[in-house]
Formats: sequence, C-alpha cells, structure tokens
Amino acid sequence: MIVSRNPYNGEEVASIKEFTKRDIDEALDVADKRFQSWKQTSFSERSKLMMAAAAELKKNKQEYAETITLEMGKPITQAIAEVEKCAWVCEYYAENAEKHLSKETIKTDARKSYTSFEPIGIVLAVMPWNYPFWQVFRFAAPALMAGNIGVLKHASNVMQSGENIQKIFERAGFPKGCFQNLPIGSKKVEDVIRDKRVKAVTLTGSKPAGSSVASVAGEEIKKSVLELGGSNALVVFKDANIKKTVATCVQARYQNTGQSCIAGKRLLLQDSIAEEFLELFSKQVRELKSGDPMDEKTYIGVLAREDLAEDLEKQVSESVKQGAKIHLGGVRNGTYYEPTILTGVNKEMTVFKEETFGPVISVTTFKDEKEAVELVNSSDFGLGVSVFTEDLEFAEKICPQFDDGAVFINELVKSDPRLPFGGTKISGYGRELSIHGIREFVNKKTVYIK
Ligand code: NAP
Repeated sequence: MIVSRNPYNGEEVASIKEFTKRDIDEALDVADKRFQSWKQTSFSERSKLMMAAAAELKKNKQEYAETITLEMGKPITQAIAEVEKCAWVCEYYAENAEKHLSKETIKTDARKSYTSFEPIGIVLAVMPWNYPFWQVFRFAAPALMAGNIGVLKHASNVMQSGENIQKIFERAGFPKGCFQNLPIGSKKVEDVIRDKRVKAVTLTGSKPAGSSVASVAGEEIKKSVLELGGSNALVVFKDANIKKTVATCVQARYQNTGQSCIAGKRLLLQDSIAEEFLELFSKQVRELKSGDPMDEKTYIGVLAREDLAEDLEKQVSESVKQGAKIHLGGVRNGTYYEPTILTGVNKEMTVFKEETFGPVISVTTFKDEKEAVELVNSSDFGLGVSVFTEDLEFAEKICPQFDDGAVFINELVKSDPRLPFGGTKISGYGRELSIHGIREFVNKKTVYIK
C-alpha cells in the first residue's frame, strides 16, 4: 500500500494499493492500444476534451485543492490557486497546440520540403509533491494535445492527487488509457522506462532522482527532460523601488511555504541599501501568518514531511556554525519550520551552496554589478534569477551575463503557459510550456518531395 499522511496532524489521508508488475503491464497495454487511435484524432477533437478538463478543474477546484492541502500541507488558498492555474494551461494548449505543431515549410531545391511534428507514443512523467497538480498538468496538457499518451508516477506522499488527475481526464471524456496514474514506488520506475512501449520520460524532482532516471533513459536511447532543483537569486540594486521589491521578494521566497524550485532562496543586496531593505523585509516576514493549512488565513503551512523539515534544520545549523547569523526564526517544531532569515552568508556556506527547500532565505551583500553577477553564477543551479532595478536599460544589458534558464526583471521567477520554463547546469535540461514544451516529445519529421 502507498499511504499519504497529513503532515499537519499525522492522520492518514489515503491508502492506495501499489501496482504489481502485472498491473503495470496491463496499464501499458491499455496505453499502447489507445495510442493507435489517439494519434489519429484531430486537434479540434483533442481541444474539446482539453477544454472539458479545464472546466472540470474549475468546477471542482475546492475538492481537488483540499486533497492537495491534506496530502502535503500547502495552505488551502494556494492549493486552490494551483488548481486554477492548471485550468489555464489546459486552455492554453487547447487553443495553441495546433498552431505550435503546424508544419514548417523550409525552402530548398525540392518541390516541397517541410518539418512535421508527430506524436511519439507513451511518455512517462515522474513528478514531485510540491505542486502536485501543476507539475503534472504542465506536462499532461501539451503531451495529450500533441497526440501522445501520459503515464504518471507521482510522488508517494501525494498519490491520491495522482488518482484525482486521472479522474479529471476521465470525467472530461478522454478515452480510457489516454492518461493513467501508476501507483508505484520509485524502485519500479526503471522497468517502466525500459519497457519498449514507453518512448520517453520527463522528471521533475531532485538531482539524484534526475540522474538515475536519465541514466536509464540514456542506456535505452530514450529522450528525457529534467526539471530539477534551483537556488534562484534575488538581486536588489540600490536604485530599486524598495517598497515594491520587498513585497515581491517575500512572496518569491515564502509562498508554498518555501517549497518551490523557483523560489528566491538567495537574497543579494547592494551594500548601500542592505540595512534599510532588511528592516522592511523582516517586518513583512514577521507578519506572515502561520497555522493550519486548511485555514484560509494561513500563509505559511507545514513542510510536506518531517524528514524534509529536519534536513532544512541541519542546513541552517551547519551554516550558523560556518558564521551565518539567525536574523529571524530558525526554530523547527515537527513539520513546521519558522520563516527564517539568515544574514552574513557567503558563497562557501551550506545555505548558499545547497538548495533550501523551505521558508529560509540567505542574505548576502555585494559591492557592484560584477560582484552580483559572480555571486549569482557561482551556484551550481541555473533555474532563474530576479533582478530589481529602475534602470531597465541596465537590466537588459545585464541579462546575457547570467547562466540561468530565466531572468525576470522586477518580478519573481514564475511559470506561465506562454513562456518556456526550464534550467541550466544541475537544474536540468529541456523546456516545458509554450511552443518549446510541446515540441519536446514529438518526432520532428523531415519531409522532402523532389
Ligand atoms: P524527489 O525525491 O526527487 O522525487 C521526485 C519524484 O521522483 C517522486 O515521484 C519520487 O518518487 C521519484 N523518485 C525519487 N527517486 C527516484 C529514483 N531514484 N528513480 C526514479 N524515481 C525517483 O523530489 P521531491 O522531494 O519530491 O521534490 C523536491 C525537488 O524537486 C526539489 O529539488 C525541487 O527543486 C525539485 N523541483 C523542481 C522543479 C522544476 O520545475 N525544476 C519543480 C518542482 C520541484 P517517491 O516519492 O516515490 O520517492
């Protein structure tokens, strides 16, 4: 059995029977057969179904959001917003898939030559618990619209959400087998990747999981996309609008109780404004309301599992030993970790080097542009960076200097169906969302007619 427990009170939320080898084989058989007919459907047929999935998400958002909150401790208002965002990505691909995948004519000496974008078959998605719906929908909506079939291996602590996602596609009217949740532990992932019927794999999660999945896919010569961890910097220059920037940085770090790959984990402040900024920032962090995740007034919930809270506690205490100062917070109680600010952090310290997956921010000061860029790029991660300045010409000039997959000016890094999303360095490879996401798992076929 795969059991999910409410991290706020330890109560069991769901208990789902794990698939045996035979169950997996049967599910892949259904998926494989379904592909033969699904790939023949028109974009308008697929669009209609995808719009129905969006409508289902909106109609029953409360029900789905409650399961998310119970399984992983996210505050309920943020869980509802997550479900709504999933409806948006379904609508986006329902409206744009055909355009994104239309043939591209290329002028050559042929009578006609072009590239067509054709479905490849079953794609396995290995997904994390931090956004149990969003991570899955941003894969599933483009995959299904492209004519592929999705099978999901969700994180073990949010398996009921995985079941709910399958139910949403069924309720929307998708034919049986277009999208299936496979209730399995991570040990069974390798066999699924190696199965001949499975053509590719996408994983959102940690580096160890990513490298294990990509190694197996590599051996089998199957395409993989990896969306891994991040340690985004929030870089505040002295000419930034301090009031607006403080509010944006608080949200960038503490939403989802800090458990987001694209959260701003390293706050880099230019020397001359550091004191004033920190004072305002600390004031707002102190005002964040912690409590029962099911309470609509709660902004900071609990971490998804106690071992994750313990890991965070260890990273903070190690950094304090290395010379960092606890400016605010720093106390754990079970799965709850206080919103925390660490100052005096340098690039050799644990909280700077590693990804902190919870409500902890590290503060480092810098002298000038050169030092800021160096600090940002010194991280092994490369998901995104936010730069705050009123000088937009300077901001655009600095963008190419960052190694990251995204640079946001005067805004937190966020995912948007219209924009490509993905990282560099150990944050992974490949892109999700936009035209780039839907073209990851297609056969880009060259057609040449003499
Ligand atoms: P995780 O431990 O890597 O788990 C992610 C998924 O991989 C789960 O379904 C897990 O299954 C599975 N898994 C773990 N080890 C595996 C292995 N050796 N082989 C195959 N599958 C394996 O990550 P997490 O703790 O759930 O999520 C947090 C991490 O995800 C953070 O590093 C975060 O930054 C990253 N993340 C990245 C993005 C992005 O878009 N770049 C978005 C969100 C999160 P079990 O649950 O059964 O172990």
